[in-house]
Amino acid sequence: MSSSRKAGSPASVDVVVVGAGFAGLSAAERLVSMGRSVLVVEGRDRVGGRSLSGEVAGVRVDLGATWVSRRHTAIRDLASRVGCTTTGQFSQGRNVLWMAGRRRTYQGTIPTVSPVALVDMARVQLALNKLVASIDVDAAWHSPEAGRLDAVSFGEWLDRKNALPATRALMTVVSKVQWGCSPGDVSLLHALRYIRAAGGVDHMLDVEGGQQQERYVETTQEIANRVAEQLGDRVVLETPVRRISQDDNGVTVRTDAEEITAKYAIVTVATAHRAGIDFDPALPAQAEGLAKTWRMGVLSKAFVAYDKPFWRANGLSGEGLTDTGAVFITFDVSPDASGPGILMTFCDPRVFDGFSPEQRRSLVLQQLVQLYGTRASAPVDYLDHCWGEEQFAPGGPNPAVGPYATTTYGPALTEPHGRVHWAGTETAGEWAGCMNGAVLTGQRAAERVAAAVARESREVPVR
Ligand SMILES: Cc1cc2nc3c(=O)[nH]c(=O)nc-3n(C[C@H](O)[C@H](O)[C@H](O)COP(=O)(O)OP(=O)(O)OC[C@H]3O[C@@H](n4cnc5c(N)ncnc54)[C@H](O)[C@@H]3O)c2cc1C
Repeated sequence: MSSSRKAGSPASVDVVVVGAGFAGLSAAERLVSMGRSVLVVEGRDRVGGRSLSGEVAGVRVDLGATWVSRRHTAIRDLASRVGCTTTGQFSQGRNVLWMAGRRRTYQGTIPTVSPVALVDMARVQLALNKLVASIDVDAAWHSPEAGRLDAVSFGEWLDRKNALPATRALMTVVSKVQWGCSPGDVSLLHALRYIRAAGGVDHMLDVEGGQQQERYVETTQEIANRVAEQLGDRVVLETPVRRISQDDNGVTVRTDAEEITAKYAIVTVATAHRAGIDFDPALPAQAEGLAKTWRMGVLSKAFVAYDKPFWRANGLSGEGLTDTGAVFITFDVSPDASGPGILMTFCDPRVFDGFSPEQRRSLVLQQLVQLYGTRASAPVDYLDHCWGEEQFAPGGPNPAVGPYATTTYGPALTEPHGRVHWAGTETAGEWAGCMNGAVLTGQRAAERVAAAVARESREVPVR
C-alpha cells in the first residue's frame, strides 16, 4: 500500500518514519509487509544515514559503516534480500605498529610491543571483560554497579588500573573507533554497554570471527539504496522534520514544506539529533536531557589508492596502528591482489578536519610512509570524509556519552512519548552501535506500532 500524496494536500498515512538510515528503512519495510501505509521522511538528499559510499580509483568504498560479523544476521538478511554480497576483510600477513616513534610488525589483533606490555594488555582486558559481563545489555542503567561505573570515564578507569602506555594506546584506538572520542570523554558504563552489545572485547576487536570479518562488495549504502528503491515514493528526501505534535487521534509531522498526518511516528534519528525536532507536547525532562547530553562522537576516514596492494608482497596485511598523528588505524580494502590497492585509514578529527583537503592528504601520506615505506608516498587516488563536518545530522559513528548521562537519561532511550516511538541503533540492546542494531530496532518499533494501529482500528465501531 503506498502513501496517499496528492499535490497540495497533506499526506496521511498510518505511520510516519523519521530518518532513512537502516533503522528507518527497516521499520518502513516491515510496516509495508504488514499492510500498513508509511512515509519515510529524511533530511538529507540521500538515504543510508551513517552509511555512505564514495569512489576511489574507480572502486566503491564505505566512507561510513563498513563491516559485518557473521553474527549480524539482521543486516545480513536485509542485504541478501536486495542482492548485496559480502567479501572477507583481508588480514593475511603481519600488522604494523608505529609507537613512541618506532616501527614494529606483529601478528594477530593485539600488538606485541614487549612481553610486559602483552601481559598488561591481557590483565586490563580481563578486568574489562569481567565488568562487561555484569552489564544488562537492554538496560545498562539497571546493571548491579551502574551508578559506580557511570561516575568515572573509561580513561579514569584505565588510570586507576595503572594501564601501561601500550595498553592505553590500544584502548584509545578502540574509543576513537567506537565512540569517536578519547577514553577520557566517555563514561565507563557507556563504554561497557557498547562492548557488551558488540559481543565482548574480542568480538568487537577481531577481524577473523569478529566484527571486522566481512564487508560489502557493493558498499553498505547500496543496501540502503536498494531497500529505498523498493519502498519507492514512500521515501521523501531533503525534508528535515522540524516539529511533531500529537493528540489522542494521531500525530502531525511538520517539515518546511508540508504537514503529514499519521496515527503514529517512529523517530530513528541519533539521540543528539532528537534535539533538532520540536515536540508538542514537549518531551519529558529525562528525554530532553538525553537529547542534550548524548552528543555525537566524531570520526574521519581517508582512502588512499595505489596501483597494487604493494604491502602484501612484503608480507604485510595492511592493518596498522599508530599512537601519534591524524591516522590511528589502517586496513586493506583492495578489491583483490591485482589492484588497485586501497588502504582505508581512520583519522582523528581533532588533528585532521580543520586542515585543507591538500593538507589532510599530505598528513595521511606522511603516516602511510612511516607504516608502509616510500612507495606509500605515490598514490593514484585519494578520498576522505569528515563526519563531524556534515551539514545535516553531523557526527558518528556513535554517541560519546560522558559520566552520569547513562544512568540519568538512559531510560528515556526507548520510552515512547505518546504516539512517538523511538528506533535507531542507539536504542538497541544487543548490537547497539552498528548497522545490525539499527535494523533490529526499526523492525521492533514497526511491530509495536503496527500492533497499536491494529488495536485502535478494532476499537472503531463499524457503522
Ligand atoms: C565512520 C563510521 C564507521 C562505522 N563503521 C561501522 C561498521 O563498520 N559496521 C557497523 O555495523 N556500523 C558502523 N558504523 C555505525 C553505523 O553506521 C550505524 O550504527 C548505523 O548506520 C545507524 O543507523 P540508524 O538508522 O540507527 O541511524 P542513521 O544512519 O544515523 O540514520 C538516521 C537518519 O535520520 C536522519 N535525520 C536526522 N534528523 C532528522 C530530522 N530532523 N528529519 C529527518 N531526518 C533526520 C539522518 O539524516 C539519518 O539519515 C559506522 C559509522 C560511522 C560514521
